[in-house]
Amino acid sequence: MASIRFDQVEKKYGNNQVIPPLNLTIADHEFLVLVGPSGCGKSTLLRMIAGLEQISSGNLYIDDQCVNTLPPKDRDIAIVFQNYALYPHMTAYDNMAFGLKVRGTKKDVIRDKVMAAANMLDIVSLLDRKPAAMSGGQLQRVAIGRAIVRNPKVFLFDEPLSNLDAKLRGQMRIEIAQLHKRLQTTIVYVTHDQVEAMTLGDRIAVMNQGRIQQIDTPEMLYLNPANRFVAEFIGSPPINILSGTLINNNANLTLQLPHINFPLPQSLHKLLEQYAGQQISMGIRPEHLSPSAEGRTNLMTFNLNIQLIELLGHEQLIHGTFGDIPMQALLNVDGQKMKAAHMSLYAAPKNTLFFDTVSGQRIA
Ligand code: ADP
Repeated sequence: MASIRFDQVEKKYGNNQVIPPLNLTIADHEFLVLVGPSGCGKSTLLRMIAGLEQISSGNLYIDDQCVNTLPPKDRDIAIVFQNYALYPHMTAYDNMAFGLKVRGTKKDVIRDKVMAAANMLDIVSLLDRKPAAMSGGQLQRVAIGRAIVRNPKVFLFDEPLSNLDAKLRGQMRIEIAQLHKRLQTTIVYVTHDQVEAMTLGDRIAVMNQGRIQQIDTPEMLYLNPANRFVAEFIGSPPINILSGTLINNNANLTLQLPHINFPLPQSLHKLLEQYAGQQISMGIRPEHLSPSAEGRTNLMTFNLNIQLIELLGHEQLIHGTFGDIPMQALLNVDGQKMKAAHMSLYAAPKNTLFFDTVSGQRIA
């Protein structure tokens, strides 16, 4: 059990600053997910916790102990990698036992620990097999088992599910979440997949270019993104963004979009009027567009030219354009695939998000 604290931690490779001074506290028992596009610095942060990368400046604490110069083996941390990193010449049992063996743990204690972890991960029948005779999902279970037997203070996961197919990823996600409940260990988990982040994390840190854009619960990131980057990164299919100039004409606000002037409802005036004359971006999530007004009033209407409709089972994903702007709508309509060249879709003003186009910051 451990908390982790970054205090102005910076990472440079030569002159290339990949993590500007960063502050972050991960609580004891917390499941924190680091999510962001490839190259944003997630693995670097994780590897600094493990001691596999030196920090360039600042201080890193594990349980109030400054670990800047503490070697990896003394940090009591286990890391699970995307590529499993198992020894090919050893059986699953020996791979799981190896870390305990080199620490001089007694044979029967090792046996108990390996069997307990194997039972937890449902891999008892695989313990005699070598890695070449196992599937990706089985290899990842063994790699997780190897981490569990060490009973570390902190678990680090670096894109552990990226090599698995979609079905197996979903299954392993559930298992890792259950594992966290059972082990009650601090977990830091790196992924580029926002669905994985949303389903696993107590909190999620959304990163871009070495900086944490926002750190919050999955719900808050979805409902209250701090900026356009977070709004576009969290949510699938991604949020629609309509950027234009805000015009105030006799107290009527209009968003001047390419080829379309879009009148904004009165309920948004208070929020937006101070941005008159400026570039703003309106965000609407595909799931907040509806084909029917259902007796609701004061809705915003988007008349779309339809390009493609995808039937996803109980939902249909509409790809269209509004003026020249591509928009997607996720409609909850059962039955046959819809056919239409044009469609009017409705959204409630309360479901819109606005951003300062220049800074990207949320207008809230
Ligand atoms: P992520 O895990 O988010 O994909 P990384 O943490 O691996 O990103 O990398 C962050 C940045 O640091 C990238 O621009 C990458 O090219 C750079 N980087 C990573 N490792 C090294 C290294 N050993 N030498 C130089 N640059 C590196």
